[in-house]
Amino acid sequence: MKIEFTEGKASALTFIWPDDWHTHVRDLEVMKAVVPITAKLFRRAVIMPNLVPAVSNLNMLKAYEERVLTAALLYPDFQPIMTLAITPKTTPADIKMCRRAGIRAAKLYPAHATTNSKEGVAHIRSLAPIFCEMEGVEMILLLHGETLRFPNGNRVSPFKKETVFVQTELPWILENFPKLKVVLEHITTAEAAELVLSNKYPNLAATITPHHLIYDVCDLFEGGFQSAFFCLPVLKDTSDKEALRRAATSGHPRIFIGTDSAPHSLAKKTDPCGCAAGVFVGSAALSMYVQVFDEMNALENLESFLSFNGPRFYGMAMNDNFIRLVRKPWRAEPPMRISGEGEFWQFGHRPGENMSQEFEWTMESKLAA
Ligand SMILES: [Zn+2]
Repeated sequence: MKIEFTEGKASALTFIWPDDWHTHVRDLEVMKAVVPITAKLFRRAVIMPNLVPAVSNLNMLKAYEERVLTAALLYPDFQPIMTLAITPKTTPADIKMCRRAGIRAAKLYPAHATTNSKEGVAHIRSLAPIFCEMEGVEMILLLHGETLRFPNGNRVSPFKKETVFVQTELPWILENFPKLKVVLEHITTAEAAELVLSNKYPNLAATITPHHLIYDVCDLFEGGFQSAFFCLPVLKDTSDKEALRRAATSGHPRIFIGTDSAPHSLAKKTDPCGCAAGVFVGSAALSMYVQVFDEMNALENLESFLSFNGPRFYGMAMNDNFIRLVRKPWRAEPPMRISGEGEFWQFGHRPGENMSQEFEWTMESKLAA
């Protein structure tokens, strides 16, 4: 990584082109609008399978991959990394067939945990045969790590769901399937960050979103409920955010980027009968991450987090082209109008407000190897 300085302050960064290890591109018209935003910033992206119906077999995966690639036609370098949705109907044979076809990872949603997860799994321990097969064929398990209910049926608070998962279901998986590679997706708590950092489980990795590194529950409620910041797992305490910032910038080899960019229409984000969960990070992603590493005086660890740790954990080659960012105020993209779906506001814009001055770094160019 090359850091250029102007008057003693970092002013330009050139490093290996990053990947996004967790994103939602949806389908149809939304997908056509969203895929280019990801493909502009990233060489590869892990595509989450939570469509309706969930992308839960090889035929669906292949068809979805085709649609994503068609949406990325103007970005021939872009490579989607497709993931299988684990549902109660998934069989070990499905896992084997997908792995043979080159699928590297499968995503587990607890039922009803987040957007489009009603086909998720209510009883994680019933998946032992699936985990056993995944361990055998070396398929990576991607976890939405939240426990919704205690064993007595009582609901778990949104602020405790991840902690309960990290203390109960996660150790059960890691201890019973010690060779299974697991990514705890979009971690939000000090407990999750510290567990990965402790190296207690050498096959446990984590992704962290840019918004969980910059905002916390105070922002979610500042001046009233801020639907733009509402995502699941929900933003946590300032102390959790600080722990995530230390973990992300630590240089730890199993902590890496995953934007969890999750587009929803403005109508769904502001629905008074239930605000859609998800932050459409979109084109702000890299500017946000760089901002955090810069503020933490950890720019030397930025490239590991953005460009090295993900491919290493997934067993994939590092990219060989470069990206350049400069210290120049980032500008939010104007809202998109998507036919039949309404307006979509990428992060950095809120109705009646412009947050685009918050980030100091802008992508300038992508450079060939
Ligand atoms: Zn997600």
